[in-house]
Amino acid sequence: MSGARVDVAGTSVSTEHYVGGHRIGSPSGFVDRSPIDWSWELAEVARGDADTAAAAVGAAEAAFPGWAALSVAERAGHLHRLADVIDANVDDIARVECLDMGMMLRSLRARVIARGAANLRNYADLAVEHEERVWSSKGTRNRVIHHPAGPAVVITPWNAPWMLATWKLAPALAAGNPVILKPAEWSPLSASLLADMAEEAGLPAGVLNVVQGFGEEVGAALVADPRVRRISFTGSPEAARSIGVAAARNIVPFTAELGGKGPLIVLDDADVDAAARKAAGQYDDAGQVCLAGTRLLVDASVEERFLEAFHRYTDEHVLGDPRDEATTVGPLIHPDHLERVHGFVERARDAGDRIVRGGRPAEVGGSGDGLWYEPTLVVPASNEQEIVQHEVFGPVLTVQTFEDESEAIALANSTPYGLSGIVYTSSRERAERVGAAVRAGTVWVNTFLVRDLTAPFGGMGISGIGREGGRYALEFHADLQTLQILEEPPS
Ligand code: NAD
Repeated sequence: MSGARVDVAGTSVSTEHYVGGHRIGSPSGFVDRSPIDWSWELAEVARGDADTAAAAVGAAEAAFPGWAALSVAERAGHLHRLADVIDANVDDIARVECLDMGMMLRSLRARVIARGAANLRNYADLAVEHEERVWSSKGTRNRVIHHPAGPAVVITPWNAPWMLATWKLAPALAAGNPVILKPAEWSPLSASLLADMAEEAGLPAGVLNVVQGFGEEVGAALVADPRVRRISFTGSPEAARSIGVAAARNIVPFTAELGGKGPLIVLDDADVDAAARKAAGQYDDAGQVCLAGTRLLVDASVEERFLEAFHRYTDEHVLGDPRDEATTVGPLIHPDHLERVHGFVERARDAGDRIVRGGRPAEVGGSGDGLWYEPTLVVPASNEQEIVQHEVFGPVLTVQTFEDESEAIALANSTPYGLSGIVYTSSRERAERVGAAVRAGTVWVNTFLVRDLTAPFGGMGISGIGREGGRYALEFHADLQTLQILEEPPS
């Protein structure tokens, strides 16, 4: 590897791994490009291998006794200091993440990066507030002790690298587990900044390690290492299956936050205009959002009104450079992903689905060479079509109608996914009834993406295993022990 640091949008970013408090390289690297302009090479990043994985797990293992021995309040102090460093560097992180991933600079600056600091503070405070359960029963005093479990591997996808890394490593660190973070190879840079910030915040060496590289290489080596005691994964169901096999071999608990195919249900009593505006908003971030409501399910009696407003709001989208204030839809992450998204649309067309809007790569700035895709709406020939049943992960929505509430619920629950759902209704009673009937880990009514960090988060069906968020993640990262002591010692 040549050049261990590069300048990205005025910020110095290490292209190496961060292991045991040191930067280390690898014999080979991979090129990281910007989705804004694919000819733009941002960095050549170290390509981790089995040796890198072993070194990182070794560093985490060495750091474990010291980190676990700190009081909860001391660990929380470290997390708060890291959050302070993040808060002081929001702009730099936002610019790097924007170039690396293509997410809107506006929203990165306004909320996404700061959310990383909030994730850390949230878990620091929750761990401190947590009280051991102590009670008497059958003549014994019972106490539930949360022991730190050991090194935790955190693996993240490319679509929300910064937010998800902080969301997933915060509970591990708060619970006393050192972390090995492996970001996705398509957007690896913000994780490297996080390592610099951990150092600046004075996190002990080995408590946060970052390794770069491919999932099938360094990622697979990490999850196969028997010294790893927790695996927290976010990504595709395909990768989760292979990680689950590795976890099973070592009898290691793992959580998997996977893909989605969320319904957006518009009941006949809904504020149709608000629902249509939110539906058009599902194209934000070029639809590369796991929680998006990509299946529009609309009561037949309001379909015409809904579609008129939906098209009007979709017309307002501005495809362009995510650094521009006016842009609302940025590029897709990678040419392979563009091809994948377009492949879904082409197959839908061939299978008899009607593409009523979009359906092609978009020309942006007079050029057809970019990675933009037109906001696309498909009327499927049936509910069984691939475009309805599989996650596309791009700006592609389907629209279907229903006659009554029970048909709406049946359609909503008709895919193997179960990550999220959105319901629009003006009735509180229907909100409760339909919301609870949608088989998904998170359901929003008349709103979207409002998150309380203490709430459980995860998927049903093939959308995931386990729950993160609040105390659920703290429990996942702990080895729970019940200590039972006879209250009257035998005489
Ligand atoms: P992916 O599964 O291809 O990769 C995710 C991560 O896993 C990457 O870091 C990759 O290198 C690594 N990986 C891949 N194979 C591996 C293996 N065998 N062993 C260890 N690590 C491996 O997913 P992606 O394409 O990066 O991300 C898109 C997917 O993530 C979509 O399905 C999306 O819905 C999902 N996602 C889910 C959530 C959620 O919270 N449920 C959030 C964001 C994204």
